[in-house]
Amino acid sequence: MHKFSLRARWVLPVAGPPIAGGVVSVQAGQIVGIDAPATSSLETIDLGDVVLMPGLVNAHTHLEFSDLPRPVGKPGMALPEWIRLVIGERNRSNRNPREAVAQGLVESLRSGVTTLGEIANLPLSVYADLPGPSRTIFQEVIGFSAARCDSVLSDLKSRLNSSNIRAAEHLVGISPHAPYTVHPNLLRQLVSLAQQRHIPLAMHLAESREELELLATGSGPFQELLDQRGMWDPGAISLGSTVLDYLRVLADAPRSLVIHGNYLSEAEIEFLGQRRDFMSVVYCPRTHAYFGHPPYPLEKLLKSGVRVALGTDSRASNPDLGLLGEMRFVAKRFPNLPPESILNMGTQWGAEALGLADQTGLLSVGQWADLVALACPAGVDPHEAILHGFEEPCRVFFRGEECEQVISGNNH
Ligand SMILES: [Zn+2]
Repeated sequence: MHKFSLRARWVLPVAGPPIAGGVVSVQAGQIVGIDAPATSSLETIDLGDVVLMPGLVNAHTHLEFSDLPRPVGKPGMALPEWIRLVIGERNRSNRNPREAVAQGLVESLRSGVTTLGEIANLPLSVYADLPGPSRTIFQEVIGFSAARCDSVLSDLKSRLNSSNIRAAEHLVGISPHAPYTVHPNLLRQLVSLAQQRHIPLAMHLAESREELELLATGSGPFQELLDQRGMWDPGAISLGSTVLDYLRVLADAPRSLVIHGNYLSEAEIEFLGQRRDFMSVVYCPRTHAYFGHPPYPLEKLLKSGVRVALGTDSRASNPDLGLLGEMRFVAKRFPNLPPESILNMGTQWGAEALGLADQTGLLSVGQWADLVALACPAGVDPHEAILHGFEEPCRVFFRGEECEQVISGNNH
């Protein structure tokens, strides 16, 4: 079995402090050793002046929009208006979503993302054979009226049953889209299904003011949008509902990801902090900024013990799919945050959020050799190079294989 070692100016295991001149040894796609210099007798590739760190985890995206050259709409627009435009984009006749997904997977891997949390509106089979990062594919579910619940649920079950994903290297989950598109009863049924199948859930939640308005009053721009599309059910939401009502339901799933959480209240943050083992929040920094929401409660979340992962969201609201860009954006926006926290969010905590902590997100023996190398000249602190540099990764390894080999399909 092919065995080799990679030497770098800095090895950043995330599991521990940076190792100067560290060596990472790889066999059969896994890390078999992390050593100080000169202890490895294997074929050693010297990567030179780089920092070698775990592959990045992008915990939230929608790759079907990866062919968009720029975000849809304009910065600062209201979410319901943006959603109207995205629906239009989805219905564009010359669209090739499979090609867009393929493009997004390649862009992700080249930018250092080796693990993805993907929301799929398309059939799961689209994802099965495409090269790229390891992915947890959350099948999107939309069904707001009570009358639609049964058919939506049975459609989801047949989609999950016909999927060939489990046989491959990826995982499947369920994504109840959002409170304004999923009936509370349907949400409960989806949580039961996740329990039966031991799979994770991901839901857009506390994303916009308009969502909170709909929950509280049953009216506002989302009510109008649903009404125009013939989806409105006046009995779906009880007046005075809150995000906490949804969190309580999600807490019964084996694992859940709260996507965005831009408008979480103190009580909701506390609730999530107490359930850190199986509930996480995914912050999408540049997408949050695109919509011009009030400052993100990141420090409050972290202080309350909430596990926060990072996501790019899609190219419909973000300029690219690079998670490093998100980490650098966070470093700039939150200058008082320790660099270790930002690194954790982009690697280990993302892997934990997806239930993959024993496989990826750290450099330690037994983990997949998912690795990113980034230029780090002599005298530069490795955290500085990662979070305040401008360089893109110069080498990316997915399960021990160089990124371009993975993309060209020569990895088997
Ligand atoms: Zn999203």
